[in-house]
Amino acid sequence: VLDAATADATDPLAHLRDRFVLPDDVTYLDGNSLGPLVSGVADAVHRAVHDEWGTGLIRSWNDAGWVDLPARVAARLAPLLGADPADVAVTDSTSANLFKVLGALTAGADTTARPVLLSEQGNFPTDLYVAAGVADLRGLALETVPRDALADRLAAGDVAVLTVTEVDYRSGHRHDVAALAEAAHAAGTRIVVDLAHSTGALAVDLPAWDVDAAVGCTYKYCNGGPGSPGYLWVHPRHDVRTPLQGWFGHEAPFDFSPEYAPAPAAARFLDGTPPVLSMTALEAALRLFEGVDTTSLDAKARALTERFVALVDERCDGLGVEVVSPRDPAARGAQVALRHDDAFAVMSALIARGVIGDHRPPDLLRFGFAPAVVRHADVEHAVDVLVDVLTSRAWDDPAHRRRPTVT
Ligand SMILES: *Cc1c(COP(=O)(O)O)cnc(C)c1O
Repeated sequence: VLDAATADATDPLAHLRDRFVLPDDVTYLDGNSLGPLVSGVADAVHRAVHDEWGTGLIRSWNDAGWVDLPARVAARLAPLLGADPADVAVTDSTSANLFKVLGALTAGADTTARPVLLSEQGNFPTDLYVAAGVADLRGLALETVPRDALADRLAAGDVAVLTVTEVDYRSGHRHDVAALAEAAHAAGTRIVVDLAHSTGALAVDLPAWDVDAAVGCTYKYCNGGPGSPGYLWVHPRHDVRTPLQGWFGHEAPFDFSPEYAPAPAAARFLDGTPPVLSMTALEAALRLFEGVDTTSLDAKARALTERFVALVDERCDGLGVEVVSPRDPAARGAQVALRHDDAFAVMSALIARGVIGDHRPPDLLRFGFAPAVVRHADVEHAVDVLVDVLTSRAWDDPAHRRRPTVT
């Protein structure tokens, strides 16, 4: 392994770091929860508020191109998915988008032959809640099995749709989505993948993976800002209807026709008026990735997590932490989870020292290595601070046990 300074000096993505607005005293390892501010975003939002809204008023729907924002942002996001922009819709939350694609892919399902909607235990809670709601609506039964049992469960041949998240939000475990899609299709099952912890950090190629649909969010590795809209992708072989037919998904919304007619391709999955300010921020943020190949993001994420795991192994022996993410880098996303009995307090102590990761109950410290943001030197610094917090037991203090609402 190269030393951190050499690794940073030879990093082909090093220039991206300069495009972020980050406080000097912060080592940010939580881009997997909320990506940091990209330069140019604040100006774009300021212009949209003052000039486009304040002065342009209603005229800005046309004059400032507000009405085309969903299509423009889809075109910027599509390369990160390996996708054709026409098959991408940027809209709503990940939860709402998962509802729409699961609803679309289960419409008309033969609930006698294929009564099961399958997911994995430990999937992100909102994905399971949404899947349970769709199952109720369609007369299916939601079933969850451990990750390793998915292939066997598919082989029974009674699963209508499988929904999984590529990278597990806790452990960082990464599915081989192409292999899972092959197993699903061999069993006559459709597959939907959630890319919340993938897009903007890892190599994604939806057409090559041959999944049926995908969803994800843009406020994590895509740096779209708090609550920025999610997205969905539907394979062009599917001419499906969305269960949420809204006017922005109509082929001609401003004809005000009383009859619904779907817009072409993924645009039919738009529904209500787009959130212009959020979309404006996202559009500006995505400029960061212009000309960036997702395989280079993937390679850097891998190098960063490898460095972190190696340093934790080397320096944290006997300090009460254990690496719980897969040790095989190919089976791991851009994050690493460590187990510690007092994980919440340890993370609180790290944050007090400027190393920002997060905690997931009951006992995980989670560190995200967004490849556009994090430097090899940051990894080294984070481990220095972790070693200090663990050896000094600085975390063992009532101040580090108070839990805020959002963790
Ligand atoms: C972050 C995340 C979400 C977020 O869903 P929203 O509806 O956008 O709040 C969904 N699924 C997974 C797997 C996530 O990691």
